[in-house]
Amino acid sequence: MSNSYDLVVIGAGSGGVRAARMAATYGAKVAIVEEFRVGGTCVIRGCVPKKLYVYASRFNDLFDVAASFGWQVDASFDWPTLVANKEKEITRLEAAYVANLEKPGVEIIRDRAVVAGPNTVRLLGQDRELSAKYILVATGGRPFVPAIPGAELGITSNEAFDLPALPHSILIEGGGYIAVEFATIFAGLGVHTTIVYRGDALLRGFDYDMRKGLEAGLIERGIKLIYQKTIAALARSGSDIDATFSDGVTAPYGAVMFATGRSANVDGLGLEAAGVRLQANGTVAVDAFSQTSVPSIYAVGDVTGRAALTPVAIREGWYFAETVFNNNPMAVDHSEIPTAVFAEPEIGVVGLTEPEAAMLEDIDVYVSRFRPMMNTLSSRTGRMVLKLITRKDGGKVLGVHILGPGAAEMIQLVAIATGMGATKADFDRTIALHPSAAEELVTFKAPSYTYRNGKKIGG
Ligand code: NDP
Repeated sequence: MSNSYDLVVIGAGSGGVRAARMAATYGAKVAIVEEFRVGGTCVIRGCVPKKLYVYASRFNDLFDVAASFGWQVDASFDWPTLVANKEKEITRLEAAYVANLEKPGVEIIRDRAVVAGPNTVRLLGQDRELSAKYILVATGGRPFVPAIPGAELGITSNEAFDLPALPHSILIEGGGYIAVEFATIFAGLGVHTTIVYRGDALLRGFDYDMRKGLEAGLIERGIKLIYQKTIAALARSGSDIDATFSDGVTAPYGAVMFATGRSANVDGLGLEAAGVRLQANGTVAVDAFSQTSVPSIYAVGDVTGRAALTPVAIREGWYFAETVFNNNPMAVDHSEIPTAVFAEPEIGVVGLTEPEAAMLEDIDVYVSRFRPMMNTLSSRTGRMVLKLITRKDGGKVLGVHILGPGAAEMIQLVAIATGMGATKADFDRTIALHPSAAEELVTFKAPSYTYRNGKKIGG
């Protein structure tokens, strides 16, 4: 067995797999080393199972409005069925990833890898050293858990998908993507759900109307929100866990989940000893072409801390292969990345928020709020929000923010237009599709309010 490769990839997640496949397609001899399952966080314990569970949880809302359309539904939910069917699906996807790697000739090595030098990777489970012209670090991230007494009693998104049974109640700490998505899932599946967040509005950094709309939607679904507190300690209390908050109050929960961010997977990888520079937050420092401070070592995906999103990791992996193995240097543009939060209500975003845009230039803001048609026959009060932020001069669309059903699907397509530099006039020229929610984006008349010299006028 030859131990000499053009490329050794560490980590078979979204970024690593794409890079390995592309490099092999360009004729490189490639090995990919993975210590867990092929597919990485997204496929095995992230985006894919998350979205499946989001679908599962949304039946609750559907059953809720069904009566307003004349249906009588007597529904019950079985957690083990969902877990087993999820497992079947991710096993299928994992097999597809393996096949896609093997087709162009990538060698898959099941082991833990350590970078032993600029061109050397050591496999810890076997007495084997690989030499590589290039090494790609694509090890992703892992949940960060605050160091509090009893932290080991809590779970993270890694464990949440495979709980032996649904708890009667859950306390989720955090105010980011994972906290609100899992709160939606658990609440939709019938678990009494509480979010505790150290700030005063969820999803810091998102548009304010999205944050407030999400908050109202979560409350409408029975989720309890505790702001400006953290969990100070956890302790076992019979079959429950007692959570003591930063203000000293203690309450029991069936489970406690930390959704307090993610850290780069660099521990024990040997990167610093090999001369790879890490940033203060532990992520691998890279240039626009994903090259680290060691010229033969590159890094892509969450481990670099640029944008912890699967499609970004895939793009970085692809462009790495273009640059290094196809003599075609390509740098990923990390601006204007569309993103969605699969909570209930859903959020889709591309471009700048109001404060970001208003700080740069004079802007016009168009906002539409209405009850989604699906809910109009029921007593549900939740509103959909669509917001368009445009440059005053010339009308270039700078940001689009959508809260409500289908937001993610809408924003993916809107991002094509905004990426092409679309203006308000381009949106106006487009004939509305009726009745749809998205038609609001092409039928805005006068701005709802404006910002001039950074000051909000009207609204
Ligand atoms: P986020 O960074 O989105 O959120 C972390 C949250 O935890 C923040 O609200 C943060 O508060 C809070 N927090 C951080 N440290 C502490 C602490 N010590 N004590 C209490 N609270 C703390 O991370 P997530 O884990 O939710 O998600 C990680 C990343 O994964 C996301 O940023 C995203 O890139 C990606 N992701 C994307 C999804 C999607 O595309 N739909 C879904 C899930 C994840 P504060 O706001 O004050 O900093």
